[in-house]
Amino acid sequence: PIFWASFNNAPRRIHNGGWARQVTQADFAISESISGVNMRLTRGGIRELHWHLAAEWAYVSRGACRITTIDQFGRANVEDVREGGLWYFPSGLPHSLQGIGEDGCEFIICFDDGKATEFNTLLVTDWLAHTPPEDLALNFGVPVDTLSKIPLHDLYIFQGEMPGPLAAEQQQAAGEAGQPPLRSTFQLNEVAPLSKTRSGFVQVADSSNFKASKTIASALNTIHPGGMRAMHWHPNADEWQYFIAGQGQMTVFNTGPQAVTQNFNPGDIGYVKRAFGHYILNTGDTDLVYLEVFNSVYFSEVSLSDWLIHTPRAMVAQTMNVDRAIIDRFPDGRPAIVPV
Ligand code: MN
Ligand code: MN
Repeated sequence: PIFWASFNNAPRRIHNGGWARQVTQADFAISESISGVNMRLTRGGIRELHWHLAAEWAYVSRGACRITTIDQFGRANVEDVREGGLWYFPSGLPHSLQGIGEDGCEFIICFDDGKATEFNTLLVTDWLAHTPPEDLALNFGVPVDTLSKIPLHDLYIFQGEMPGPLAAEQQQAAGEAGQPPLRSTFQLNEVAPLSKTRSGFVQVADSSNFKASKTIASALNTIHPGGMRAMHWHPNADEWQYFIAGQGQMTVFNTGPQAVTQNFNPGDIGYVKRAFGHYILNTGDTDLVYLEVFNSVYFSEVSLSDWLIHTPRAMVAQTMNVDRAIIDRFPDGRPAIVPV
């Protein structure tokens, strides 16, 4: 199956305040476990209060975003996320987003369900507009005429005013229930690399360090020119990829035997089924930066080189028809990016 797609040829839903475009399983058949959204909010632009069945994980690729959410115990969060940061909202919990950077923000959302669509979420304005005014007044304990100007159509994305200072907004949102025990945000691009060589590094966020992120694990890969994400596979989950910067070329290996090679550019999406072998070359002259996202509670990877160096030499030497001394030179220590 085709394992390349791109946000660059997905239609934008454009509003005053920002835009959104998506690639779900409807357009990209292979992407069973993750659907992707690319959204841009202006400074002050609001993605309105809403909720949905799928859990939502996001990576801020530009600018900064203020998020609000609340859990089933009434514990509310207001947090700011800047470039290279993540947020995670569990299935069914309500939230909102607002661009607060100098030029707003842009981000990539992953839902933990390939069929989930950003254009079919439960919107607070839709519910209010489709509830009789008397019932709304009864629900909120206010006179019915105070609600006479509510929007009759959903807002989805709209231009808002810039929010107040974070501490003041946190104080307004906080109740006796306090804050949720787990933060909804995590700075992925500042975490200590899982693997670092002279050719690049890999930074991982899963439930071991980003504790709120119970259904999504991710890795931010930076591959310098001439480098290669070494041959490997993931035993636990399909891999959804988003290419942020640079030029790459991925080869995927499956039974058959089948092997397919494909180029990737910024804005492109890749998808590798669970346990399929793959590697990625940096084919440009700048850093190749891309995200790996997994519908899983943890990040897990098997390295081809590591496997062969930790198998008895005679077995590997006979299989590859090489001298044992050659195998001694394979990189040890599970380097994710080669040459070491
Ligand atoms: Mn959402
Ligand atoms: Mn991989």
